[in-house]
Amino acid sequence: MGGGTSLGKEEGVVAQDASARTVAGLGLSVCPAGVVVLGAPIRGCRVCDASELELVVDLGRQPWCNHFLRAHELGTEPRYPLRLVYCHACGTSQLDYTVPKETMFADHTYLSGTTHSLSAHFRQVASDVAQRFLSGRQRPAVLDIGSNDGTQLKHYRDLGCDVLGVDSSRTSAAIANEAGIPTIAEFFTEKLAQRLGRQFDVINAAGVFFHLEDLHEITAAIRAALKADGVFVVQFLYMKRILENVAFDQIYHEHLLYYNLQTIQTLLRRHGLEMFDAYLSPIHGGSVVGFVGHRGRLPVGERLAALLAAEEASGCNKLPAYRTFAQRIEQMKEANLAWFADARRRGRRVFGMGAPAKGNTLLNYLGVGPAEIECLVERNELRRGLYAPGTHIPIVLESDLTSPPDAYYVLAWNFKREILARHQHLVKQGVEFYFPVNPPEA
Ligand SMILES: [Zn+2]
Repeated sequence: MGGGTSLGKEEGVVAQDASARTVAGLGLSVCPAGVVVLGAPIRGCRVCDASELELVVDLGRQPWCNHFLRAHELGTEPRYPLRLVYCHACGTSQLDYTVPKETMFADHTYLSGTTHSLSAHFRQVASDVAQRFLSGRQRPAVLDIGSNDGTQLKHYRDLGCDVLGVDSSRTSAAIANEAGIPTIAEFFTEKLAQRLGRQFDVINAAGVFFHLEDLHEITAAIRAALKADGVFVVQFLYMKRILENVAFDQIYHEHLLYYNLQTIQTLLRRHGLEMFDAYLSPIHGGSVVGFVGHRGRLPVGERLAALLAAEEASGCNKLPAYRTFAQRIEQMKEANLAWFADARRRGRRVFGMGAPAKGNTLLNYLGVGPAEIECLVERNELRRGLYAPGTHIPIVLESDLTSPPDAYYVLAWNFKREILARHQHLVKQGVEFYFPVNPPEA
């Protein structure tokens, strides 16, 4: 890891496992099943276009983490580079390779409504926003970009808002429409914003700012669709927390960008927008909820100023923080592999707890498989009988388990409190719960 490789000198190769054919330089590869996979190394920083990008973390070649495999698909999954680079010009960290968005988002099956704590978080955000910004407005218009199954918009609708969702997943959009949340199954673009022909009091976007390849287009489209006194509510994983918690499993192909407040402010200002307030939320293991208006409309508030000062003091926008991060990832790998080796020596049965997308980053980076972790225990019915990409660890539904293991390796560490509460009886029986990532606030 590290080594100061500069982009551009890197090969423009797509990543594949040994069994796949690779066409170097074209970003084109063919996996054994014959599926053509397009992807591309980036040419410059996704935020500021600068070309001085420094490799800071290399997690190897990894399969797309959100496609859990059926038995007949085992071994056919393409692999792509998973590397974090740091931009010397603007300080934004990002992946240096893009898996095409059609592969990633056309039909994902993650449904936000299925997670209770997420739904509660969305309700809280909606009522906060309504109280602070919407009082006195007649049937305010709310747009949610990346609206998933409509969970966030249901809360706004219940508060009397006129809601509209946009989500590229046909599955999610269909579910939302059926539930009475009007949702357009497309990517949000300037063209779509023009076609809508209206502006919104609130635009909400949770997550999309690290997903989207067409970052500048979407930011410009948001500005166009936001009323002069409208509020754009942006939510994203907080890189400062990822660094502090060594939560490197949050790095995966869907997350193209990793923001701190300072770096996202740079992006927003470039497009005539500006964050004026923000707070930290424990959701997803450490996120930011930021409030953005047209640039210069509202001054930067005290709460945001304090968070920016804390960033400055921590050095989280500077290269050395990323060097430390890389070292801590390697230390964590050693400690985790030692734990697995010890479990095997003692003949202990280890199950994984949860099968979140991020867990696949961790498992593939560690290089563990069914020999170390017998199965991943899940509660999502949709995952019954599937296998984790890359590691091929089978998924078992919690309701199908007949006996507990000696230890759980907890991939869904951000639900620590919920998990320990639900499995108190197992804790009392002496079942170990090992948290590879263990932030104080989880
Ligand atoms: Zn940059």
